[in-house]
Amino acid sequence: MTYLDYAATSPMRQCAIDAWREHAGALNPGSQYASGRKANAVLQEAREQIAELLGADPVEVVFTGSGTEANNIGVRGLYAASRARAGDAAPNRVVASTIEHPAVLESVRALEAAGADVAWLSAGRDGHVTDLTPLDTPAAVATLMWANNESGAIQPVQEAAERAAAHHTPLHVDAVQVVGKLPVDFHALGATTLAASAHKFGGPRGTGILLAKRSPAPQPVIVGGGQERGIRSGTVDVASAAATAAALAEATREMEQEQTRIATLRDDFANRVLRQIPAAVLTTQEPALPGHAHFLFPGANADAMIMLLDSRGIEVSTGSACAAGVTRFSHVVEAMGYTEAEGGGALRVTLGEGTVQGDVDKLLLELPEVVRRARDVGLL
Ligand code: PLP
Repeated sequence: MTYLDYAATSPMRQCAIDAWREHAGALNPGSQYASGRKANAVLQEAREQIAELLGADPVEVVFTGSGTEANNIGVRGLYAASRARAGDAAPNRVVASTIEHPAVLESVRALEAAGADVAWLSAGRDGHVTDLTPLDTPAAVATLMWANNESGAIQPVQEAAERAAAHHTPLHVDAVQVVGKLPVDFHALGATTLAASAHKFGGPRGTGILLAKRSPAPQPVIVGGGQERGIRSGTVDVASAAATAAALAEATREMEQEQTRIATLRDDFANRVLRQIPAAVLTTQEPALPGHAHFLFPGANADAMIMLLDSRGIEVSTGSACAAGVTRFSHVVEAMGYTEAEGGGALRVTLGEGTVQGDVDKLLLELPEVVRRARDVGLL
């Protein structure tokens, strides 16, 4: 099997499996007796290691159940904190980009349904947000993803953080696709909260990280026993926290060399696709994640491409959410300005740690024929 969908999830690194196994027996880190203190020591070590790797203080590391949860807390929790702090005088404005992952987009839509006034940051055909002007007016919360999960386009988060800070607007950054692939320094960035997800960099699925400044801190989205500074109640999974720290440490150690290797493979692959397949469009434009290649094959049926490749042992995706196995036209591709006729045949190929030349060669061997057949099926 040839796996080329690393942006969806990545296999657990051996070091993460080892760390998880070592601490699988850890008990409740909130308990006061010896086994609780022992579990807590492992948890704090993981917290310290993650903090150091991401340029944060240990107290700013909040473990969550997923990247989705970290994003919900960041967006909805900061909005609630702003509104609570400033009372009726608080702006009910939210600034968000149109290309956010559903975890953020649906959080913003929930705020909108509850009365928030949303100013949208739009993106161009190259996948990059074009105009940050809405950040120059105070808002209860602003949110911008660091890199897009479909196109791989890296967004101007540093500039966004500076412009938001100039108006005391708390900024949430969805860095789920970036952490473990590019250097992240939370303090240097100056965002208020930042979301990451362990399974994107070889950690366990079901573990997220929210970096949250001491102040303003997001209000919780769920309430309970007050763990994790009261920001995310619930008993923390110590083994997963240790595995996450191990995976992030290894990903960071290998980052420079590995990302150069992956980018070289990706560039060569993308150029060959553009040469071999008529009317192919590469939407991934620099600055972009090193492992991403997102294509549009106008007139091709996306589901047919995925299924035909699957039947040949190659696993890739369209990059956008699918409901009941049927791909919908991606809101990201649409927000980039493509019509459904242009952007319906989307294919996302994402390379990662285990990818070798033979994997992309195998895909290249099959792809021209697969696109031809998927074009015969058409957009339906
Ligand atoms: N944000 C982005 C940009 C993502 O790519 C993803 C996962 O696909 C998420 C958030 C959600 O992360 P999780 O799968 O940990 O809930």
